[in-house]
Amino acid sequence: MGDTHVISKRIINFNAGPAALPLSVLQQIQAEFLNYQSTGMSVMEMSHRSVEFEEILTSAQATLRQIMAIPDTYEVLFLQGGASLQFSMVPQNIKVAGKAANLINTGIWTQKALEEIQKETSVKIIASSEDQQFLTLPKLSDIQVDPNASFAYMASNNTIFGTQFKAFPKTGLVPLVCDMSSDILSRQVDVSDFGLIFAGAQKNIGPSGLTIVIIRKDLAERCDKSLATMMQYRTHIKAKSLYNTPPSFPIYVAKLVFDWIQNQGGLSVVQENNERKGKLLYDAINNSEMFYSPIEESSRSLMNVVFRIKGNNVDLEDQFVKDAEQAGIVGIKGHRSVGGLRASIYNAQSLENVEAFIEFMQTFEKNNHIL
Ligand SMILES: *Cc1c(COP(=O)(O)O)cnc(C)c1O
Repeated sequence: MGDTHVISKRIINFNAGPAALPLSVLQQIQAEFLNYQSTGMSVMEMSHRSVEFEEILTSAQATLRQIMAIPDTYEVLFLQGGASLQFSMVPQNIKVAGKAANLINTGIWTQKALEEIQKETSVKIIASSEDQQFLTLPKLSDIQVDPNASFAYMASNNTIFGTQFKAFPKTGLVPLVCDMSSDILSRQVDVSDFGLIFAGAQKNIGPSGLTIVIIRKDLAERCDKSLATMMQYRTHIKAKSLYNTPPSFPIYVAKLVFDWIQNQGGLSVVQENNERKGKLLYDAINNSEMFYSPIEESSRSLMNVVFRIKGNNVDLEDQFVKDAEQAGIVGIKGHRSVGGLRASIYNAQSLENVEAFIEFMQTFEKNNHIL
């Protein structure tokens, strides 16, 4: 029962989230699992007030700051509640009386956010691709943020529909809030373009249970102190993400993933790898007689590659998913709300795995003529 045996049984995992993690990170967790750095215990069993854990937390924050080049005018918070809690925390903290929020509606996640933001403040939808079934993104030149808005809200990558903004709207003095759950750390972004960035960890960072919030300091001072203590960003800023017990094990894993990114040369290298993987897979789809991408070309996501079999042949798509499982490839069924097929190729997905998947697609096409 050696390690090689276990590793050879690992399959190709295209799950959208929780998603595949880098093998080297998993191996390090395994090596340190029972006895973390001679403490005689697992990180999971350790006090969050211990020196060892504080070191993990401080290092995680410092490395994230470095790889994203986060300016000192921003705080980095490690919270719980998932990206979905931010749909409420954001408006509760940064709404402004008498001003409306602006929202760019590009799919199910921004719609869910809209529902929650509306409970706290008035919202104006300033751009939407709903009338195109979210298969494209609004053009940047068509997005006009009201200069009097309290904040503007968007998602950078639409995990379910497979669209991704390649650039961000200029919002002037209006703080731009961005849900980056499914593409944070996949490319270089200029943090100073945003007032607040948040992301659930389980797509591109680590295990579920951890939510990263990067917030411009002044925005945390907007809200009234009557807001529930746990809901105020300032609480977590003041306590350095240790107001209560943080998700300590996910923070430890996230730290290892941040180190993994830094050790390969940072986000410029990660971005190149993602561009290479994405191009390979989209080229294979475009050059195929059987598969196609329903997403308008300039809006296609490099993280979640959504595709279909021509004629939207559901039976053949089901067969494709079944055959893939037989071949050791999982997670390629589209989200239940949209159907079709989806391969999530986050940072941890290797080029070799993408190549193996393309080979599988080509074999499937050869064996199942549709023309
Ligand atoms: C997965 C996802 C969410 C929801 O994340 P939870 O952590 O489950 O709340 C929100 N937004 C986007 C873009 C996502 O991909």
